[in-house]
Amino acid sequence: MNFTLGVFILANKGFPMSFDLAPLLPVLIPKAIEWAEQRASEISASGEPLDERGLVLARQVGVASPEKIRLSFVTQLPLPTDPMLLQAALQIGLLGPGMIGLTLGHGIYICRDYNSNRLLSHECRHVQQYEQAGSIAAYLPDYLQQIVQFGYTSAPYEVDARAHETDA
Ligand SMILES: [Zn+2]
Repeated sequence: MNFTLGVFILANKGFPMSFDLAPLLPVLIPKAIEWAEQRASEISASGEPLDERGLVLARQVGVASPEKIRLSFVTQLPLPTDPMLLQAALQIGLLGPGMIGLTLGHGIYICRDYNSNRLLSHECRHVQQYEQAGSIAAYLPDYLQQIVQFGYTSAPYEVDARAHETDA
């Protein structure tokens, strides 16, 4: 399905262009966890392990089990089919066209045209955050709460990931 067309159709089905996400979090979070766990198990089954350079980067940003990380190189990030989850993800900018990486547990999507040490180190720091939280189900509610409360740029998990970016 064409991405732009999909959003256009959604908008024309009477979906609000923008809505207050905070009260919807109790509904959105279980959907997000289910979606994220499914994507993570796909990446785990078919993704590529880190090469030596990647293993060094992952250890550098504090990942405890870099050997568990799998990379999936994609043209664009996968989108949820659930209409409410899709709308929410696009509204907060999480899966929009500007996003070039996404980490779900030890699974990392990288948009192949934007692959770099800087991007990989950022996403590996998110792996470290998942490891600290213990699971996708434990991490994602806090992460999404931060995004809704502070906005993407100021969310503490994102500030932390940016602080650990490196080109080396
Ligand atoms: Zn990030």
